[in-house]
Amino acid sequence: MISATGTVYLLHFNEPYKHARHYVGWAMNVRRRLAEHDAGHGARLLAVVREAGIGWQLARMWPGGRARERQIKRQGGHARHCPLCGVKPRRLPRNADGSLSRSRTTDTQKSAAGVMTAAQLAEHTALRRGAASGKLPRPFERGPLAADPWAIRPACPVLASPGGAS
Ligand SMILES: [Zn+2]
Repeated sequence: MISATGTVYLLHFNEPYKHARHYVGWAMNVRRRLAEHDAGHGARLLAVVREAGIGWQLARMWPGGRARERQIKRQGGHARHCPLCGVKPRRLPRNADGSLSRSRTTDTQKSAAGVMTAAQLAEHTALRRGAASGKLPRPFERGPLAADPWAIRPACPVLASPGGAS
């Protein structure tokens, strides 16, 4: 569903660069694009941010195409949409610590409140894990992992028939 039109993503800079604290981009393959950004390619702003020694984090993703990207860029005020800047949705079930209750809100409520839905969170977490370890998840194009070679070895005959030597 998401891959039909791509994904708009919001990057939050760990420190502001001049007046910029965020970058909004669009990609068909966010994972690949983030790896490019990480290497200093794909966006001039991110290249200079990198040169300034400032790190960034994937803050949020929206399913959508180029039009959605333009709409979000035009709206400006990215901090209002950025969970890392402390977006606090109102009038929804809260946990004791004040955070939005993920278990007591629907995906629609999460989406309207600017909090990632369950599916977005899962994808986001997977991407963050890949970024944190410096190792990207296996690309889909490469297909499933080969079967474990040890699993298909014939069982050891001695172990397979204990007591056969009497
Ligand atoms: Zn932010």
